[in-house]
Amino acid sequence: MTGWTRRQTGGLAAGALVAAAAPQIAQGQGRPKVGVVGGGIGGATVARYLAGLETIDVTLIEPNPTHVTCFFSNLYLAGFRSLASLTFDLQSLAERHRITFIRMRAVAIDPTAGTVVLQDGARVSFDRLVVAPGIAFKLGEIGGYDEAAAEIMPHAWVAGPQSELLRRQLESMEDGGLFIIAAPANPFRCPPAPYERASLVAYYFKQFKPRSKVLILDAKDRFSGQELFQDAWSRHYPGMIEWLPVQFIGKTKAVDAATRSVVTEGETFNAAVANVIPPQKAGLIAERSGLTDATGWCPVDPLTFESTLQRGIHVVGDAIIGGDMPKSAFSANSQAKACAFAIAAALTGSPRFPPHLFNSCYTFLAPDDAFTNAITFAPKDGKIKTVKTFISKVGESAEVRRRLAHQAVGWYSAFTADVFGGVS
Ligand SMILES: Cc1cc2nc3c(=O)[nH]c(=O)nc-3n(C[C@H](O)[C@H](O)[C@H](O)COP(=O)(O)OP(=O)(O)OC[C@H]3O[C@@H](n4cnc5c(N)ncnc54)[C@H](O)[C@@H]3O)c2cc1C
Repeated sequence: MTGWTRRQTGGLAAGALVAAAAPQIAQGQGRPKVGVVGGGIGGATVARYLAGLETIDVTLIEPNPTHVTCFFSNLYLAGFRSLASLTFDLQSLAERHRITFIRMRAVAIDPTAGTVVLQDGARVSFDRLVVAPGIAFKLGEIGGYDEAAAEIMPHAWVAGPQSELLRRQLESMEDGGLFIIAAPANPFRCPPAPYERASLVAYYFKQFKPRSKVLILDAKDRFSGQELFQDAWSRHYPGMIEWLPVQFIGKTKAVDAATRSVVTEGETFNAAVANVIPPQKAGLIAERSGLTDATGWCPVDPLTFESTLQRGIHVVGDAIIGGDMPKSAFSANSQAKACAFAIAAALTGSPRFPPHLFNSCYTFLAPDDAFTNAITFAPKDGKIKTVKTFISKVGESAEVRRRLAHQAVGWYSAFTADVFGGVS
């Protein structure tokens, strides 16, 4: 057995049994076992909260040793945060919270046998499984945009090497260059983030490359926080950011990586730096395991986050569909807690709680100008419905916005401590 690590204390007795093509551990022996596929925001939260109950053995399956948060990665692109400050060590999380960490990709799930198949052929048995694989890209929908093209026209929609590549391209771009963001249709990961990216890159240009421009080619006619963004663009970056909605230019249908051009149904645009954010669907393991429906996303019971397609398997985070909750880190964290308590109730008879679902978000318009929104949700008729919404308003004072930008930094520390248990 190679390539996987587990916490050093307790060993296999307290962890999941892993054996290459070996007989499975008999279910029901000892403490119940929960497998978690994906160590991002949803998966790390659910693993940590379940392990914290000390009545369930938790195994986290994730190929990467660290998680780099997408939130605040636009600040990295603009030069205000290091990538190291956005990176969290999953081995430390596992050791500190008595979670078995298997550093490997899951390639299949067998719900009948109650096993996850790993990349090396080993199997991990579970009584319940949580799948939190985030997003995958629908690469076929933009002609010419494949993995090789993404190395020239990065999406930077999964933080890490793609973010570093885009940052390097922005740094080496000559003053006067055109930065194109091709923004996808709904639903997609973090609805305000393409426009936050446009704002912060414009801020960077204003300091260092003032003749440069940002052009957003949008597959939509409206976008999240639109009035707040457009107000900020006219205040901070007059003439620097242009937004073209789908009704003017049509959808992005192809790219030519050799010339860095983006082809929409109406026109071809040539970029100095192109950030192509493709249409999205649930992470591939969800699709391969029969957890997705015709939308490409995973339908779930909003009370427990159990899949409506595969019983005993729960899905949280960006991979789910079925209501008003946006695909955000805060949503993933909130869903993960509700899911953890529902699983604990099912496996150990602990009390059941009605889920309390929230999303709260800080969005930067400039380093000292941010806006916020906060939304509560509740399950209704099998869907997640909005209960109450608060959002910042156009016309708030510079002082209010400065304070929000300051609070956002505090939010980042508190939120990542909740997800990753205070490790970095
Ligand atoms: C630029 C940008 C800015 C953002 N800003 C914000 C913000 O300000 N606030 C906010 O709330 N949200 C923000 N988000 C959104 C947020 O990052 C995501 O919604 C969040 O990460 C979703 O969590 P998740 O657990 O579903 O997926 P992820 O955090 O992406 O985790 C998925 C994990 O699953 C793993 N995985 C996938 N397949 C497998 C497999 N087969 N086996 C094992 N592991 C697997 C992956 O390696 C990954 O670690 C932003 C996103 C972007 C792109």
